[in-house]
Amino acid sequence: MSLIRCTNGHMFSSRRHRNVCPYCNVMVEQETRITSTATAVAEVDDKTMPYLGEMDGIDPVTGWLVCIEGPPMGRDYRILSEKNFIGRAEDMHIRIIGDNSISKRNHAVIVYDPKKRNFYLLPGDASGLAYLNNEAVYTPTELAAYDVIQLGTSMFLFIPLCGVHFEWENNQSGE
Ligand SMILES: [Zn+2]
Repeated sequence: MSLIRCTNGHMFSSRRHRNVCPYCNVMVEQETRITSTATAVAEVDDKTMPYLGEMDGIDPVTGWLVCIEGPPMGRDYRILSEKNFIGRAEDMHIRIIGDNSISKRNHAVIVYDPKKRNFYLLPGDASGLAYLNNEAVYTPTELAAYDVIQLGTSMFLFIPLCGVHFEWENNQSGE
C-alpha cells in the first residue's frame, strides 16, 4: 500500500486518492510515503486519527437512515455492513426510540452486501410491516438512494455511502 499522511494526521492511500486527503481535502505537497503499517501507526504520534486501511475496533459506516417524519424526526441511524436489525430494543443494530408503533425487535432488517455493494430491505419477523415507497415489503427488496422507508408511524430516508461510488478499502494482503 502507498500510504501518505496529510497535515492533519490522516493516513490515506495515494494510489486511490493521489495527494488529496479524502477526510479533510487538504493537498499533501510533500509526499511522506510510509511503507509499512507498523511505521504508519508509530508516526501518528499521539494523534488518534482513525487509519481506515485497517479500522481496528471501528465498524465502518456504509449508509444512513434519516428520520424525516414521526417522533424521532431529525435523527440519523448508522447502517453497517451486512445485516442491521431494526427495532426499539437495546440490542438492535438500529435502535429507534420514540415511536412505540415500531416493534421492539426485528421490525425490519437492512442489509449491506459488501460483495455486491448493494443494500436490501428485508421484512422482520415482528408483527409490524415495513413499507418501501408506500409498498409493504414481503421479500428482500433492493434499496436506492433517497428511498422512503416507513416503520410504524415514522418515515426514514435511505442514504447510501458505500456502493459503486465508494467502498472502504480493506485489502490487507500487502503489496
Ligand atoms: Zn486530512
